[in-house]
Amino acid sequence: MISEFSLIDRFFKRQTINKALTLGIGDDCALLSIPKGYELAITTDTMVENVHFFAECDPYLLGHKLLAVNLSDLASMGAKPLAVTLALTLPKVDENWLNAFADGFFALAERYSVDLIGGDTTSGPLTLTVSAFGLVANGQALRRSTAQLGDIICVTGTLGDAGLGLKINQGYACKQPTAALKRFNQPEPQVEFGQALISIANACIDISDGLAGDLGHILEQSNVGACLDWDALPLSPEVLAYIQDTGDLAMPLTAGDDYELCFTVSPEKLQTLTIPHAKIGVIETLPGLRINKSGEIQPFKVKGYEHFS
Ligand code: ADP
Ligand code: MG
Repeated sequence: MISEFSLIDRFFKRQTINKALTLGIGDDCALLSIPKGYELAITTDTMVENVHFFAECDPYLLGHKLLAVNLSDLASMGAKPLAVTLALTLPKVDENWLNAFADGFFALAERYSVDLIGGDTTSGPLTLTVSAFGLVANGQALRRSTAQLGDIICVTGTLGDAGLGLKINQGYACKQPTAALKRFNQPEPQVEFGQALISIANACIDISDGLAGDLGHILEQSNVGACLDWDALPLSPEVLAYIQDTGDLAMPLTAGDDYELCFTVSPEKLQTLTIPHAKIGVIETLPGLRINKSGEIQPFKVKGYEHFS
């Protein structure tokens, strides 16, 4: 059995990339120097076996997803990823599992030049936590609380594909499962898009718990409401087929794990936006979320996933 320290050395201590990192793995703390004119954006996400992922799921994909969900939070604020810490609670030391997990984790980390700068390693029920640190120019971070009346609501990518992937994992028979399963197992954080929205978007959030719930956070914190246009929602052929098949219209608005960005932008600034996006609604005075489906406007009240309810 390998020790805690040789485990860290063997699987998690890699050549570092960023100049801002003045001290990496091995001391009690890592040291990062923050360049002048920048703020450090900090986020943490935990994934627990049987809550966030299935037991026996592919460790390579798990390593990717754990980092991806944290980079997605940095993306939603427009921050450039810099470094992460990794806290691992493991039931046992399984070297094959650790190898594959680290491969998935570092493959994504290298794509975004992110350094792993520290962490903790303990034994217990499988629980994985990443804290991520990113840089954003002073005062420029995209927030949830700053949507403006008349803003156009936009999203990147398509909605509900990861939700469909989860349904497929739970036994739903889908004719074309590959893309949906990939969206569920290996989400892509919208890191470049988030940075491209700086000084264009008024508010932004990443969609981790379903569009309705996450847009709901923007609406509450900005003290506004919204009306979405059902026909404008970007839905893949597979999700449209699922809706046809099941009548489950709410799924693309309530299912989690999309990791696309939802942002609001003034009609004038929208002209300058170069990233691919769909315009799905408008910010209004009347509180709450409404959906316009074929000219009929209905209130939409669904919450995202909550752990203690
Ligand atoms: P301490 O007991 O002082 O908290 P540890 O003995 O837990 O320190 O960790 C030793 C070093 O290894 C620290 O620099 C820590 O950040 C790093 N480390 C521990 N676990 C991990 C991990 N899973 N991934 C990356 N670095 C880790
Ligand atoms: Mg420790």
